[in-house]
Amino acid sequence: MPYSKGGWAEYTTNVRTTYYPRLNQPDGNIYLCGEHLSYLTGWMAGAFESARLVSTQIAAL
Ligand SMILES: Cc1cc2nc3c(=O)[nH]c(=O)nc-3n(C[C@H](O)[C@H](O)[C@H](O)COP(=O)(O)OP(=O)(O)OC[C@H]3O[C@@H](n4cnc5c(N)ncnc54)[C@H](O)[C@@H]3O)c2cc1C
Repeated sequence: MPYSKGGWAEYTTNVRTTYYPRLNQPDGNIYLCGEHLSYLTGWMAGAFESARLVSTQIAAL
């Protein structure tokens, strides 16, 4: 896959602290979701956690 640059995401603590809170909030009707935006990167459990967060946000509309 041409734009796939690795198996999973890895972040520094600083990047998580700086960007995660904003990336986990919607921008209008655009929601980002996936393992790469969880605190369990590299695991299916992270994908589930992110899906639960986003589906909860949408359900609250
Ligand atoms: C080699 C390897 C081994 C792993 N082993 C384990 C393990 O043993 N246990 C474990 O818990 N986790 C494991 N993982 C991690 C697990 O696979 C991921 O955390 C999980 O699949 C992430 O789910 P996701 O829904 O966030 O993303 P993904 O499963 O990557 O789903 C994203 C989907 O979006 C699609 N997509 C991308 N761009 C577009 C586009 N423009 N339009 C439409 N669709 C698009 C992709 O094709 C893909 O189907 C492993 C990962 C790798 C790479």
